[in-house]
Amino acid sequence: MLIGAHVSNAGGLPRAVERGVERDCQAIQIFNQSPRMWRPTDYAEHDLAEFRDAMSASPVDSVLIHAVYLLNCATEDRDMRDKTLASLIQSLRVGAGIGAVGVVLHPGSAKKGDVPKAIKRAGKVIKEALAESERCDLHLEDTAGAGGTLGRSFEELAALLEAAGGGKRLGVCLDSCHLFASGYDVRTRDGLADTLDEFDGTIGLERLRSLHVNDSAVSLGSSRDRHAIMGEGELGEKGCAVFLSEPRFEKLPCVLETGRDGGAPAADDVALAKKLRTRGNAARRRVKKSR
Ligand SMILES: [Zn+2]
Ligand SMILES: [Zn+2]
Repeated sequence: MLIGAHVSNAGGLPRAVERGVERDCQAIQIFNQSPRMWRPTDYAEHDLAEFRDAMSASPVDSVLIHAVYLLNCATEDRDMRDKTLASLIQSLRVGAGIGAVGVVLHPGSAKKGDVPKAIKRAGKVIKEALAESERCDLHLEDTAGAGGTLGRSFEELAALLEAAGGGKRLGVCLDSCHLFASGYDVRTRDGLADTLDEFDGTIGLERLRSLHVNDSAVSLGSSRDRHAIMGEGELGEKGCAVFLSEPRFEKLPCVLETGRDGGAPAADDVALAKKLRTRGNAARRRVKKSR
């Protein structure tokens, strides 16, 4: 597992790599544009090259882009749809330019409308964005399930992947907090194993390409997306240790999005995640021995 954090790229793309190094990250995640504004950041080729150079000179192995939260691929509003599509295409192009493992996307929201129709609309936009870009993968993230957000269950994610054409560039990002909020008890080894068996049966493990590790401030199945600082939420240190040591997550980038640096992950948070992973691995070895 490549453990890391969401980092700011304020001051230029290479600054994100520096912040990753400061936090001892093996993986980083960035927004490719300001998370509150539609205006896409247009990077020049030399910005992208600078980022790639910074990456190859650093111990950071993997970078993810998170598409901004303004996007709603399932919208019924024409203008919103066009803006969403343009922004998503731009994210995928930047992703290709910086050598990202993938662009992580919240699939969209049906608001109060019909869910199967919303899935169809979202699928169409995603398909179009993939057709208008090359190379970079797109990871649909599972959601907590509030407010008609799509992707709250593996069935919904499977339907979204199918609606988006089911191509090879489509993957999934699983978030520990969202899984827990949408009713998957990933705190225990058995609960997590069952969850992944279900994922494999419904979607296929080969689609699992990235992870977010966040603790949850709210209880199992509450459908709300409230991150907690690692170890201080409902998953707790023990639950996070289970998640971080899952053997089927072994090769994946796994980023923290919440922490002690004004809400964002600090070096201490990344260090704790690594410590918990070691602890989780030791617990798994003990269980194996005693069996
Ligand atoms: Zn996300
Ligand atoms: Zn979240």
